[in-house]
Amino acid sequence: MDILLLGPPGAGKGTQAAHIRERHGLLHLSTGDMLRSAVARGTPAGLAAREIMNCGGLVSDDIIIGMIAERLDQPDARGGAIFDGFPRTPLQAEALDQLLAAKGRGINHVIELVVDAAALVDRVSGRFTCGTCNAGYHDRHQRPAEEGICDHCGGDRFTRRPDDNAATVATRLAEYEAKTAPILPYYAARGLVRKLDGMAAIESVSQAVDAILDPASASICEPVVS
Ligand code: AMP
Repeated sequence: MDILLLGPPGAGKGTQAAHIRERHGLLHLSTGDMLRSAVARGTPAGLAAREIMNCGGLVSDDIIIGMIAERLDQPDARGGAIFDGFPRTPLQAEALDQLLAAKGRGINHVIELVVDAAALVDRVSGRFTCGTCNAGYHDRHQRPAEEGICDHCGGDRFTRRPDDNAATVATRLAEYEAKTAPILPYYAARGLVRKLDGMAAIESVSQAVDAILDPASASICEPVVS
């Protein structure tokens, strides 16, 4: 099964992708994580991407498509994947279709997380993660139970993304509206898009995701937008 999670920065794509990975056993492919790893390793792609990412712009389609093509060729990607943060442009959407078709696959579901733009700056600008297990936290909404200690793994090292600040978030949102939102009709025309209320509680969104991926588990209370 191949699933796309679409939505602006802060919509909860990473959180729901982690849920899907655990519950449905699919590989989580985040182009943002892949780029951050490339930046940390100082690879040519990472060097080309770093400044663009820090400013909130989109990295070139060539780099992104090449990175995904290579990743999809690896054995652990054979059973399908959750694409988080990809595709972000019409060209990337078409390239993904071609890459999957070459493997006899196609996108099964596109889940759009719909959020209130005004809430996103607050959501994104306060977030931080455990440097050991990657668990997500927030300055105002989700602090660790014990200050400075990760609830999940006990780690005491936390990191913040350099692009999670108010100015860069505004650019990332504008990029989403201008370049990524226009790919939704491409999938809607094929009847693939399900819209979920990304402002609902994380657990409710996860339940709604489960109902899409595994209709037998459907709840009557899913926060579906339309
Ligand atoms: P994310 O972690 O998905 O928020 O991505 C962080 C940053 O990485 C974005 O603001 C872009 O600069 C870059 N990026 C991630 N995925 C893509 C993509 N599919 N196309 C272009 N740039 C991307």
